[in-house]
Amino acid sequence: MSSALEQWIESHPYLRNVADFEQTVAAVFAKLAPPTLPMPDWKQVFAGCGEGIPLLGSVPGEYSAAAGELLLTACTELLNHPLPEPLTASAKSLLQHLQASQEIRTAAIEWVQVGDPENAPPAAGLLRVLAWEAIRRTTAPVLKSYAEQRKEDEWMRGYCPVCGAVPPMAQVLPEGGQPRQLVCCYCHSSWQFRRIGCPFCGNDDQNQLAVFTIEEEPLFRLDSCHECNGYLKTYLGNGDLELHLSDWSTLHLDVLAKENHLERKGASLFEI
Ligand SMILES: [Zn+2]
Ligand SMILES: [Zn+2]
Repeated sequence: MSSALEQWIESHPYLRNVADFEQTVAAVFAKLAPPTLPMPDWKQVFAGCGEGIPLLGSVPGEYSAAAGELLLTACTELLNHPLPEPLTASAKSLLQHLQASQEIRTAAIEWVQVGDPENAPPAAGLLRVLAWEAIRRTTAPVLKSYAEQRKEDEWMRGYCPVCGAVPPMAQVLPEGGQPRQLVCCYCHSSWQFRRIGCPFCGNDDQNQLAVFTIEEEPLFRLDSCHECNGYLKTYLGNGDLELHLSDWSTLHLDVLAKENHLERKGASLFEI
């Protein structure tokens, strides 16, 4: 555990279980090597981006198949770690589901990207966490190359340029002046968005937007919208980004938002 993470857990002890789980998942995947796959057709990717199609919509199907195999190995490996009882049961039922066939594994990867609530596979919550980690690891070279090639201000949409998810978080640098970044909790991408305006409903009437400061958490605020009742957890710093922008580390702010009758519009890996 990094010292920043340790300090955060010490001051937010109710996050310890989720932090431990995150560490276990990281340890599981650290042992696994994703395959090397050919890069996508960048011309097609950027043509798609111009029309609002996220990157993962333009990568070949073999990425989903490879992520599915990595997911199966990760689920097997997870059961070698000490887990709380409900999680062991979920991991066993997910493993049994994934062992059925390669088609099932690829379909599981595709399901987390589309998220059809009617046709959820077993242990869908655990599947989401493991599958997004598998997708991130399998597509890491593609994501890196894409981030290097794309122009900072060419997306500017309210959903993720990589996976299409709606962001739960944002970052605004304390110095001001710089554009706001929106942050995806699925693929961990961040991208520029206009400084004033709601990414969920497009409202940019300043009178219909509110800033909710939090006395106990001065590094964060909630940016909310009266039109759609949505909110963004906004990080006001620039340090320990992996921790502060990870979404799970500020789940208590989602609880606070809910108590104040705001509605989480951003994608989520957790039930809040
Ligand atoms: Zn994303
Ligand atoms: Zn809105």
